[in-house]
Amino acid sequence: MLYRKYSEALVEKFGEKVYKLPVNLPITCPNRDGSIGVGGCIFCAAEGTGFEAQSEKLSVSEQLANNKAIIMPKYKASKFIAYFQNYTNTYMALEAFKQYILEACEADIVGISVSTRPDCLSEPYLEFLHEVKERFGLSIEVELGLQSININTLEIINRGHGLAEYIEAVLKIKSYGFSICTHLIGNLPWDTERDFYEAAKLINVLDVDSVKIHSLYIVKGTVLGDWYEQDAFDMITPDAYIDRVIHFLRLLKPTVVVQRLFGRAPEEITLFCNWEMSWRKLQNELEEKMTSYGYRQGDLYKSQFERQEE
Ligand code: SF4
Repeated sequence: MLYRKYSEALVEKFGEKVYKLPVNLPITCPNRDGSIGVGGCIFCAAEGTGFEAQSEKLSVSEQLANNKAIIMPKYKASKFIAYFQNYTNTYMALEAFKQYILEACEADIVGISVSTRPDCLSEPYLEFLHEVKERFGLSIEVELGLQSININTLEIINRGHGLAEYIEAVLKIKSYGFSICTHLIGNLPWDTERDFYEAAKLINVLDVDSVKIHSLYIVKGTVLGDWYEQDAFDMITPDAYIDRVIHFLRLLKPTVVVQRLFGRAPEEITLFCNWEMSWRKLQNELEEKMTSYGYRQGDLYKSQFERQEE
């Protein structure tokens, strides 16, 4: 095993293939509507980040049914995770949140995944998810956007929260026994390599369950898109990105599940994505490199306490 792939971890956990079905709700984000910030993160498209999602005008059941109709014959899967992906899925009235989640608790749904910001969670939402877990026997995952551990970078990209909010959210979610996935961007131009490697160490010490790493893609009509067109920053090369991600994986505990290693966005809306290569080709290159050097996820991992005992 080069690294702990999400698809394999799901088979281990559920005993069969399981797929995430995106659900798109008619909501927004507090970093867009002025309650935390305006304009949103500099890379975020007007339609948010759920490019594979169905129309938010469809009900949760309709979206799940449509996605199942695509996934079931293609991947021969019969169990699914309802993935509340786009925007900030805890930014709505509690009653509306409850209704959406309950609508997703169908017979072939084995888990609920709720994507949100670290600064937009409160106990009643977590308590309700805990009730759902107990009542339906579902696995609950909270996906948190962090993107960078560097507070200066977080300010530049207009995240509207810092590192402390992320740590506080992780500790709170953990106290409910839910699984946590953290989103990071591996090549933000304002981050150093050290920042990214420190993020791996933070994931380890906080016992975060999985990571979703994106290579930075640049969507037309965003602040980042404007900066890109003005040549306001430099992008690292694909080889440098691959080397950076490999080192990140080597620092990461072997138990952390890797949900993604490259960004994915439709060509029509982007100015830049994966150096004009397919993410699959880049992922193959990364895996070939790890194989040829004998690298594995976690082969550089050691907690400071283990190191002190040596
Ligand atoms: S927090 Fe998420 S939805 Fe909100 S602006 Fe940033 S990327 Fe977009």
